[in-house]
Amino acid sequence: MKLGIFGGTFNPIHLGHLRSAQEVSERLGLERVIFVPSFIPPHKELAHGVPGKQRLEAVRLAIRDNPIFELSAFEVEAGVTSYSIRTIEHMRREHQTTPYFILGQDAFNEITSWYEAPRLFSLAHFVIMTRPGAPRKPLEAVLGDLSEPFAPTDRGFRNAGGCEIMYLEVTALDISSSLIRSLCREGRSIRYLVPPAVEDYIAREGIYR
Ligand code: ATP
Repeated sequence: MKLGIFGGTFNPIHLGHLRSAQEVSERLGLERVIFVPSFIPPHKELAHGVPGKQRLEAVRLAIRDNPIFELSAFEVEAGVTSYSIRTIEHMRREHQTTPYFILGQDAFNEITSWYEAPRLFSLAHFVIMTRPGAPRKPLEAVLGDLSEPFAPTDRGFRNAGGCEIMYLEVTALDISSSLIRSLCREGRSIRYLVPPAVEDYIAREGIYR
């Protein structure tokens, strides 16, 4: 099975996440994309301390009409600092496949700070989506001293084990969770930036006010 894993804080999920995941899944022919909200994000302060339960529920509402999108509570239920390598290993075991790990260019540019970063590239393909404001840097500039050689391909790189690092251009939507949070805080509308069901849920629960 061609499986995508889309990790993130999803605080909250927005149309930038959804549209880019949709485009990636179509482009790569993914049969499933699993959204995995993190428990405690290791690299950022979790703004507003929104509990995993609420971030999960918003994702559930956002993806419920898309047959190939799925939600996993793996990281939230683990209840410990979320490391993507653990999630990738879990999905490999569960689905017996090398997954496609989907992330934005901004996140990829910071990947060497991730737990066990060098080993990540032998466990999953990495799909790097363009994102407004995030420059694409040469691979050596991001990874530094490469622990293993990557050979160029038409869409990125491939290592000796066959795992790819690929760059995909997606429709540029300059939407971020920070933007959603600050609009809510200021009492302004988030309509057309998140799905209607997510907008309703955030309003109903009074999140980010
Ligand atoms: P925040 O504003 O709180 O930093 P965010 O909008 O970046 O949040 P995350 O949940 O941290 O949202 O993002 C999860 C993943 O989705 C990351 O890999 C990020 O790069 C990617 N992503 C988020 N928004 C976009 C977007 N508009 N276009 C492309 N990729 C995106």
